[in-house]
Amino acid sequence: MAAANTSYELPPLPEYTLRPQPPLLSWISDEALAAALPVVAYWAVSLVYHLIDVYDLFSKYRLHTPAEVLKRNHVTRYEVFRDVIIQQIIQTFAALALSWYDEVAHIGKADYDIAWYAQKLRLAQRAVPVVLSGVGVNSAALAAKVAASQPALAGVLRGGHYFHESVAPAFAGWELAVASALYWYAIPALQFTAGIIIIDTWEYMLHRAMHMNKWLYVTFHSRHHRLYVPYAYGALYNHPFEGFLLDTLGAGLAYLVTGMTVRQSWFFFSGSTIKTVLDHSGYEFPYDPLHWIFPNNAAYHDIHHQSWGIKTNFSQPFFVFWDRIGGTMYTGNVEEKYERARRIADQKVAQEEENKAKAMPNGSAVASAIELDENVRPQQISAPRSTRRKASSISQSPADNFKGLRNKVNESLHGKRANVLGVESSH
Ligand SMILES: [Zn+2]
Ligand SMILES: [Zn+2]
Repeated sequence: MAAANTSYELPPLPEYTLRPQPPLLSWISDEALAAALPVVAYWAVSLVYHLIDVYDLFSKYRLHTPAEVLKRNHVTRYEVFRDVIIQQIIQTFAALALSWYDEVAHIGKADYDIAWYAQKLRLAQRAVPVVLSGVGVNSAALAAKVAASQPALAGVLRGGHYFHESVAPAFAGWELAVASALYWYAIPALQFTAGIIIIDTWEYMLHRAMHMNKWLYVTFHSRHHRLYVPYAYGALYNHPFEGFLLDTLGAGLAYLVTGMTVRQSWFFFSGSTIKTVLDHSGYEFPYDPLHWIFPNNAAYHDIHHQSWGIKTNFSQPFFVFWDRIGGTMYTGNVEEKYERARRIADQKVAQEEENKAKAMPNGSAVASAIELDENVRPQQISAPRSTRRKASSISQSPADNFKGLRNKVNESLHGKRANVLGVESSH
């Protein structure tokens, strides 16, 4: 394909030849990699947090105690794992389906595109003498003054006329450098920013709707809220339909609207996945570089998982401006509330141990007292899996489960509605 110089005096755009882009790795297509990477990233980051959790490596930075993990969640770890896998299967199929409709990626046009930006820069310089004369500056005289020491600046002051072009029109070095920076960095940064805003907007609107509409909440979203004490791989624990609608479609839409390349989508999809995992990790570390950029974090989203904060902090996963705009940001003090939940969970564990001790034969009172002391410590998390599952699941049967859920829903939809900041009035 050839492209000719389109404007008089403008340096010409180079010719280019498109050719299909070979995959980065020979054994997997770029599209398949785009579908696989978020899943790999999800489990890799989750595994790190799971080990931190199981070995209680950073107890100081936990949002909840191990006793709370045991006592407060209404779903077993197995059920969480299973449902996340189901969601990821759906997500992978959706990503592969999307790639069938994508055009085949080509390379070979970068120099042309950079020159195109450089041409636009050149055109923009034509305004410089006009603007300067508007404020009383003679740009031609100024250009003559600096021509010897600052030839590039002189060119700009002359409205984009460069003396080195006496033979043929050609771009100045700075024009190509700026155009190159625009092409390789500024435009992708804009695409990522727009993608992030699209995801945040999509998730906020639908997430809020899920909480405002009783049917939507009971049918879909209540499943995610069985986790009162979120952990990393619980991030995508959702009803499959909700997972598809909020996470998969939201990210897919952002990708399509912003016109990202498949290779950009590796970072975008994996990045947003990792962010969601971190926001459910249950840890708030003192140095969190991500938090400097994105105000949404684990502590922020954790409030939404608490019964007293469930009608607030809907924003996910990057920024919190939608909560600010929508009047749904939690503003109260949380310390006491967290402390109370910790105390109750500890009491439950202690009570359970006491009951166990009472059921023991006479003479083992001393041993059971020691055991009690051990069990209320954070190491509780590394208790055998059978104990954990038994303790963390309160659902006895599907019927009980539904009844409990319905009660909870009624409570959160009606009983606590008055506490929501401005939510009720706007709906
Ligand atoms: Zn929610
Ligand atoms: Zn969540």
